[in-house]
Amino acid sequence: MDAPRRPPLADPDFDPPPSRHVRLRDFNPAECQRLVVNPFLAAFAMVVWWEAVRRLLASPFAPAFVLMFLPLVFLPYLVQFHCLDCGRTGAFPRRDYHACPALLVRMAEGKRPRLPIPSARAQLFVWGYILGGATLLYSVAGVSSR
Ligand SMILES: [Zn+2]
Repeated sequence: MDAPRRPPLADPDFDPPPSRHVRLRDFNPAECQRLVVNPFLAAFAMVVWWEAVRRLLASPFAPAFVLMFLPLVFLPYLVQFHCLDCGRTGAFPRRDYHACPALLVRMAEGKRPRLPIPSARAQLFVWGYILGGATLLYSVAGVSSR
């Protein structure tokens, strides 16, 4: 494992004095975050979206179904993350900007979480396989029961 990214040491003879403000972009908080990804709101939205598309295709306004793809742009914002340190919930695309006091203390001490938690992106990838597999099994069961 690599050590957390830190700013390079300054040479006091040649380098200007460092700023007193610590900039969050100098560090990668994702290395110390303890986040759990929750995709169920997005999965529910997909079920509602699919049912709306089915009903629209059966209606006389079927060509308007092209407009039904516009709401899918907001789908990533329905995937949520929960922070195990502070309990905050946020939208998945904003996970890299989450830095709570417990995380900042851990980053300052150069420690990693005690329990290695997969990254939020890896968790979402696994959830995609689980929900995709469940959808496939449900569709196969629906076809075979006819
Ligand atoms: Zn937090």
